[in-house]
Amino acid sequence: MIFKSTNPYNDEEVGEYSALTSEELNQKLSDSSSAFKEWSQKPLSYRMKLIKKAGDVLRDNRDEYAQMITLEMGKPISEAKSEIEKCAWVCHYYAEHAQEFLSDEHIKTEASTSFVRHDPMGTIFAVMPWNFPFWQVFRFAAPTLTSGNTGLLKHASNVFGCAQKIEGVFTKAGFPKGVFQSLIVGHDVTEKIISHDGVGAITLTGSEKAGSAVAQIAGKHLKKSLLELGGSNSFIVLEDADLDLAVKTAVKARMLNSGQSCIAAKRFIIQDCVYEEFVLKFTEAARRLKVGDPILDDTQVGPLARKDLADELQRQVKESIKQGAKLLLGGHQNKCFHEPTVLGQVTRDMPAFREETFGPLAAMIKVKTIEEAFELSEESQFGLGVSLFTKDTLKAQEYVSKVSDAALFINELVKSDPRLPFGGTKKSGYGRELAKDGMMEFINRKVVYVK
Ligand code: NDP
Repeated sequence: MIFKSTNPYNDEEVGEYSALTSEELNQKLSDSSSAFKEWSQKPLSYRMKLIKKAGDVLRDNRDEYAQMITLEMGKPISEAKSEIEKCAWVCHYYAEHAQEFLSDEHIKTEASTSFVRHDPMGTIFAVMPWNFPFWQVFRFAAPTLTSGNTGLLKHASNVFGCAQKIEGVFTKAGFPKGVFQSLIVGHDVTEKIISHDGVGAITLTGSEKAGSAVAQIAGKHLKKSLLELGGSNSFIVLEDADLDLAVKTAVKARMLNSGQSCIAAKRFIIQDCVYEEFVLKFTEAARRLKVGDPILDDTQVGPLARKDLADELQRQVKESIKQGAKLLLGGHQNKCFHEPTVLGQVTRDMPAFREETFGPLAAMIKVKTIEEAFELSEESQFGLGVSLFTKDTLKAQEYVSKVSDAALFINELVKSDPRLPFGGTKKSGYGRELAKDGMMEFINRKVVYVK
């Protein structure tokens, strides 16, 4: 079987990748287990040196990797370059902090010595999506490999060129054979991989459907899973907010990656006395965004990664309008392209409110009170993060307990940062990536007790 990746901007073929045969897959699974035996016994300082080198390789070859991202999934090239730089950052971050995170934790008992050691779990199987095709992988790989695990990647089948380049980063950095491998396979072989004795745990970033399917298989085989799924973040603007800052941040929070981000702000919940001004300024700023060929440096919004994603967004726009939403900007689709679109007077029953919208669509919702704003924000099956805009930052901290999401960003967009834990609640998944938490997810916290 051959997988083809296609440029969503012009429909041209980017590459062809042959699926692994069953024997080739068996060999890679066995290489991963053999590599684990040696890699996990290497001194931590050696693994830290190599992950730092991986960060250097990313920086040195930034433009080549960014180009592959843009060709395969249509991300504007300036954002693709930033994505590679962020990957280098996460590698360097763990190169600096792994020693501190993995050091023994001594606990006083009646033993002569008792402590917790941090040992790796084995091979970690990662199922990853196309929207941040490098970042999502490095976010898992940097902590996971540094702590002594090996990694197997099943990337989304429209970005196998990126998958190969990522394996190349580790090879160029000098990682031993088998420590990180990309598998060119469809998701039909997921169970075969998960059930392999050497696989210790599974991490998946993607849709609820994929997350639920993989978690069921992991559960059946009694293996740990970590899920990072969809989101429908709210962006709350209170009447005392700095409106210009709120608008500038809101446009970025919604339109980054042409709207295809799990942590993008999707539901804009605005207090009524500033609603008109906010919506007007947001719409004008969105109108000025440069839409076009993602390979050009000044393009701000490109095509969506696949036509079916643009079709789905178009359905959500049309159904919301049918239910009474006001079209304030855009609204049209042309193959993979979907215009930056603003819908006003969105209410809780519309798809633009209820469903995850994975593209450049902003839903504007008017509320009277702060209580109503948080109530609507909570009315979501997802729980990645909330942005809150207000000048009263002391008062804002009193609202933290009203938010059931995994993050609340005050006067800032919700973003991932290597130094802060990242994850979700409710149907956005479970487990945490990044920071010390991310490194601890795939660790055997082993108790050592000496009488
Ligand atoms: P998917 O969840 O289908 O794809 C993500 C990854 O999961 C891919 O590697 C995919 O492989 C794999 N996968 C899909 N189904 C299964 C399965 N049954 N068993 C094992 N692995 C599976 O996302 P889509 O590309 O279809 O996007 C659909 C929607 O998902 C988006 O509109 C968005 O709402 C959400 N999404 C959220 C992301 C996030 O960052 N949280 C990222 C991407 C999508 P393959 O490519 O071979 O199908």
